[in-house]
Amino acid sequence: MIIENSLDEVKKRETSLKIIKSIINAHGRDNLYDFTGLSGGFLATTDDLNLLETYVGPAIFEEKLQYLGKVHLGGEKIFPVNRTSSGILATILALVPRNSCVIHFVPELPSHPSILRSCKLKNANYIEFDDISRFHTPQNTSLIIITGATMDHKVIDEEIFEKIIAKAKEKEIPVLVDDASGARLRTAIYKQKKAIELGADLVVTSTDKLMMGPRGGLIGGKTELIDEIKACATKFGLEAQPPTILAMVNGLESYNENNLLNSIEKRNKLIKILKNDFKYFEESPTGVMISENSLKKEIANQNIETTFSPKDLCFLWAMILLKQEHIITIPAVAMPGASATVRFDLASNDALKLDIAILQDKIKNSFKYLLKIATDEEVAKDILFNCE
Ligand SMILES: *Cc1c(COP(=O)(O)O)cnc(C)c1O
Repeated sequence: MIIENSLDEVKKRETSLKIIKSIINAHGRDNLYDFTGLSGGFLATTDDLNLLETYVGPAIFEEKLQYLGKVHLGGEKIFPVNRTSSGILATILALVPRNSCVIHFVPELPSHPSILRSCKLKNANYIEFDDISRFHTPQNTSLIIITGATMDHKVIDEEIFEKIIAKAKEKEIPVLVDDASGARLRTAIYKQKKAIELGADLVVTSTDKLMMGPRGGLIGGKTELIDEIKACATKFGLEAQPPTILAMVNGLESYNENNLLNSIEKRNKLIKILKNDFKYFEESPTGVMISENSLKKEIANQNIETTFSPKDLCFLWAMILLKQEHIITIPAVAMPGASATVRFDLASNDALKLDIAILQDKIKNSFKYLLKIATDEEVAKDILFNCE
């Protein structure tokens, strides 16, 4: 393993950010293509920014956020937080007594690492399921978490969602839905109901995923629970700050699910032409992707024997895509523990700038280079950690 732990991941991320800066300096932002689907948008007018400098601003944005957040998520009250992970942490800190059980259903493993990490802080007994026939809640379960759509955009079946809610209601256990991207993927693409409409007590989404908002999280749900979470979150500085809240308001205002629906046609075109050269690419709801294990198989299929781990291969390809083709994918820039799946999200803003045939070339060229270096550890380390 070349990338062995969180420290290595942080180092790799720092390399990526430096490369992004040098690409922008040398070629301009227009020649960099962000296909992560996380736009980190910060929509704001000069008037908005001026308001930010007064005491009035936060009051105004807060009120707008309450309104727009409830339209987007449902629920009685909205609480903006620094990240989705912060929302998950705040909820677990507030609602989970020490040593109780937290049960998580995820449509496909792995789960987002913030759930387990937060449970550990409460010494909670954490159990996760991806098979509904095994799902059960032990005696002292204090919280049920449902992931609406995974990091790799695997979406839950709505019937399974409803089954879990029914079990939770029967036992009067609160339900938090991690709908980081699901709040938009499930509703826009799969025409499912909002988590709150399906009976969840709480939902958290990322204002950065598949919408033009800032990195941040939005929790919606029952007032009583939100108040408890809010009281706990502010003790640790997990709450979103006014500039983020302003950008959340404008991001929510500009959200239009047609942008997501329009990406489907492009996705279909791309997956079709990629089949000429690749065997293991899969569709995601708004793009194409190749998981760690599929990439390993794809390379084996080219009769190349590599000792690199599947994760390292994903990280390497993502770095080659960035350095040589100026394409940003999640494995190059993500926080430690995020999915290493290489995904090209066609709902990203930058997808509008790049013709599908050119994207296909960039994918092919970078993969060819990956094959060439897939046995050379020195070169691989250089690609991952050297900014040149
Ligand atoms: C992205 C994601 C998160 C975490 O979002 P952050 O903004 O990075 O904290 C949590 N859960 C799921 C399912 C995600 O996809």
